[in-house]
Amino acid sequence: MPACTGSEIPVAPNPRASVFSRRSAWWLCLLLVSWLSLSVLPVRADALPLTEVAAGSLGTRLAWLQEEDAPLSLEQARAELAAGRFQHGQRDVLNFGIGAPPVWLHLALRNLDAQAQRRYLLAGATWTDRLDVYLVQAGQVQHHWRTGDESERANGLIAALGYGFELTLAPGQSELWLRVASDDPMVIPVELLTPEELLSRQRFMAYFHGFIYGFLAALCAYNFLLYTGLGERSYLYYSLYLVSLIAMNAGYTGHGLAWLWPGQPGLERYAILVLMLMFCICGLLFASRFLGLREYAPRTLRMVQGSGAVGVAAMLLCLLLDSQVGAAYVAFAFSAYFALVMVVMGVQSIHRRRAAGAYFLSAALCGALGMASTLLAVWGWIPYTALTYHGVELGVTLEATLLALALSYRIRSQQKLAVQAEQLARLDPLTGLNNRRAFLEQAGANWGAIERRDRPLSLILLDIDRFKQINDEHGHETGDRALVEIARMLTQQSRTGDVLARWGGEEFILALPETDLAHASVLAERIRQGIAGIDLAGATGPIMLTASLGVAQRRTAWSMKELIRAADMQLYEAKGQGRNRVSVAT
Ligand code: GH3
Ligand code: MG
Ligand code: MG
Repeated sequence: MPACTGSEIPVAPNPRASVFSRRSAWWLCLLLVSWLSLSVLPVRADALPLTEVAAGSLGTRLAWLQEEDAPLSLEQARAELAAGRFQHGQRDVLNFGIGAPPVWLHLALRNLDAQAQRRYLLAGATWTDRLDVYLVQAGQVQHHWRTGDESERANGLIAALGYGFELTLAPGQSELWLRVASDDPMVIPVELLTPEELLSRQRFMAYFHGFIYGFLAALCAYNFLLYTGLGERSYLYYSLYLVSLIAMNAGYTGHGLAWLWPGQPGLERYAILVLMLMFCICGLLFASRFLGLREYAPRTLRMVQGSGAVGVAAMLLCLLLDSQVGAAYVAFAFSAYFALVMVVMGVQSIHRRRAAGAYFLSAALCGALGMASTLLAVWGWIPYTALTYHGVELGVTLEATLLALALSYRIRSQQKLAVQAEQLARLDPLTGLNNRRAFLEQAGANWGAIERRDRPLSLILLDIDRFKQINDEHGHETGDRALVEIARMLTQQSRTGDVLARWGGEEFILALPETDLAHASVLAERIRQGIAGIDLAGATGPIMLTASLGVAQRRTAWSMKELIRAADMQLYEAKGQGRNRVSVAT
């Protein structure tokens, strides 16, 4: 008998086909509901094999329950889990924000090995107030740890990492129960590390903080030295800003509790929050001074001062009322405000073309972004990862570098201004020639060498003839033009090494090193002719421009003053003899 193939079987209309499709729809619905309930509704977590523990926080492998009214005991928490009232973690790092009620966490682990395994549980942020950890095996509590920064001895605190607990996990199933209570932001990273992993993590964090603190401390010392040397208060405020940054960071990373104020939970309760506020206030102080708000934006200064006072008052009130939640809100809100205000002031400083405004704005942006990242991660608004959590350290290190650049840029521009002012103080603004002071300095500087080597030096003193009359007839502006033209002509005639200056109103002086009287007289005559040849149009026709010149040569043991007096006498002679002539000392 030939085998039948499917196509050969006569197909009758199947009355159950529609029923089948309805059933598959039911299955689909059921699948969807169970998938939804897996992610949203309370369920029991499967035990996590130790071999499958991945790097990073285990938030999505945890089940959690928030206490409602009264605190739960471990037994009650176990009953709640059995009753299916725990929820699955949705993020790697669970975060319940500021002032949240205590949370129970459950993690089931399975050791598939025949030997017991050693692991470190790394749980909770360093600022967690109270932390209870239970290790349960075969239904029995094997170990109960109680710690947190509110306990006398914050057992297991590992600065910069959190709280560490050494677990010995017997073969088979173990359960970890955690109860976390904190008025500060309740962010709960939970990691399981091998002893080697913990060691390398600690080593990395030690280098990381060593680098950050070393860098900031060096910058701080340097700026304080600049303040003591220069007396400029920007540097003082900047070093205070850096000190408060180190203190704040040491506070919230747990270095404070571990090293600076160990065994003082009362202080720890508020230290981090007060240090956060102090950091912001020092930053505002520095920015106000650095940007010169008093001179160019007094209204912004008043706003900054007012908001600082409000922040301090609000914090004091929370301390008086012993409200840790209130203090946390004040510290976090003021930090967010601070980051924003720094950026706004940076934009304003660029808008008003303040020196180093661009440096300040980029610095403020780095600081603000870093700070926003850490604040939002800790507050629970963005995912809490190593990068987002350490944002403030990275951002502020960059910020500090840019601000140091801004400060040095400002020194440079101040130096430039000083040099410009110095130059301006030596130049005659109308002709651009040296003024009398610069002439005496420059000619005086050469005098000693010329005297020692007994070299010739001559001097020409020049006075425009009847200049008052030119002013009167053609106007002061024409007189100015005549001065500028004569200055240009004198500059052309003088050689490198000669010292030329405007000596007074319409008098010029020219010192000629290595030049004897004969050569100086030739030059003076050339200058006289040059001036007489200047073609200057006046209001009522061409101007007759002439000058009288006196020439003298240095004699042994003469001072500069004596030489000038000798040239002046010759100038007087030239005037007396009818002007427009050169008179030479014999
Ligand atoms: P003499 O030939 O005897 O030197 O006569 P004088 O008019 O040149 O001398 P006097 O000292 O009487 O007048 C000098 C004039 O120079 C008076 C003053 O107004 C003018 N003067 C001085 N400085 C300037 C200046 O910077 N610009 C102009 N336009 N005039 C100036
Ligand atoms: Mg004169
Ligand atoms: Mg004159």
